[in-house]
Amino acid sequence: MGGAKDSKKQKIEKVNYPKLLRELSKLNDELRFFTVINENVSEGVPFSVKDNLCVKGFESRAGSKILKGYLPPFSATSVERMMNKGFGFLGKTAMDEFGFGSFGVNTDVVAKNPFDDKCVAGGSSSGAAVAASVMKNHVAIAESTGGSISNPASFCGVVGFTPTYGLVSRYGLIDYANSLDKIGIMARSSSMVRETFEIIKGRDGYDSTCVDKKVSALKKKKIVVIDQLMNGVSEEIKSTFQVLLARLENQGYAINHVSFDFIDKAIPAYYIISMSEASTNLAKYDGYKYGMQYGDFTKKYNEFFTNARESFGTEAKRRIVLGTFVRGASVKDKYYTKALKVRTALTNKLAGLMKDSFILSPTMPITAPKIEEARKLSPLQTYAMDALTIPPNLSGFPHVSFPYAYIKGMPVGAQLVTSHFNDYALLDFVSEWEKSFEYQFKHNL
Ligand code: GLN
Repeated sequence: MGGAKDSKKQKIEKVNYPKLLRELSKLNDELRFFTVINENVSEGVPFSVKDNLCVKGFESRAGSKILKGYLPPFSATSVERMMNKGFGFLGKTAMDEFGFGSFGVNTDVVAKNPFDDKCVAGGSSSGAAVAASVMKNHVAIAESTGGSISNPASFCGVVGFTPTYGLVSRYGLIDYANSLDKIGIMARSSSMVRETFEIIKGRDGYDSTCVDKKVSALKKKKIVVIDQLMNGVSEEIKSTFQVLLARLENQGYAINHVSFDFIDKAIPAYYIISMSEASTNLAKYDGYKYGMQYGDFTKKYNEFFTNARESFGTEAKRRIVLGTFVRGASVKDKYYTKALKVRTALTNKLAGLMKDSFILSPTMPITAPKIEEARKLSPLQTYAMDALTIPPNLSGFPHVSFPYAYIKGMPVGAQLVTSHFNDYALLDFVSEWEKSFEYQFKHNL
């Protein structure tokens, strides 16, 4: 992706769009990773946008039926910044409804893994990861609340970068959980990610949580591996991870194994906080102001409201019920307030561990499961899959997932985490890694 920093150069870069659009449409029939393809794009390096980011005039429904037909009258700040730099908007990518999921199956457009179409692409940014994997010269703008960038990046064999919370404006994002949502990037290489990050980050008057802090590249020579995080990891991933650690040791990193006794509380704390916030965010889809309109306005409010909200999927309904429950006046201290305390304690402990070290783990405990297997998992089994991606997300720490191995032809990612606002150190690390490890891809549009 030559010259993303330089808007003039960006505009002259030639992309054969008629050919790309033809091939993309064909592959999309198979892998179902785009929900909308922009047939009118004609210049600039192509970029795709996760369906929960608004793009003016293009259906943006966050993977939900309730927003079917919604054409935003404005674009998200990150999208607009890419367009202003001359990038070509290619379309909207598939995702779990409102970001609720880990496998991309909680929606009507289920993206398939480019390495094996019987397998999931990951979630919730399923389509973004497939798009990043199958196209040579393309960046995917995605979003993570609890791991939605790392997870699909790992399953689809691409670099997935989640910046420090607050570095990229959330204006124009259809929120899942405001205190956790981060907009990030997926691509085939760290250099493409870096160039895109340069464009989309930075203060935005439309998002008061968006900061203009200097981003550092403080290199750390130590790597911490948290013992408890390895507990649920499959044996085959464990052994590839040992090989990765040995390689990094050879490159001069000191590896320290540490015990972190309450890291297992990250999953319940995350799901309590994220569901609480989600349940309030979803209240606006009542069929009056937002969301599909069912029947006529003469119906009584309760009936109208109930009809409108029938189109939420099962997982969205589950989160509305649980999220509303845990912040109820009588139980709030037991669940919601406690979860906030766990979040603070966890953040402090992780920050301490990262004073002079990175934290490294596999990104996911397994390689991409079959779509049918993923559908059979219970909600709790699914939530448990996020054990490795939730801790940095809960604390807003920047993290990156990069491919480091292939098991039976399926990619495996490792996740590197660093301190707040030290984002460039992650991209530097991955760029070093890419000098000695060649990523594999199945499609080359
Ligand atoms: N799997 C997690 C969840 O369902 C994370 C999803 C996300 O980051 N959007 O909440």
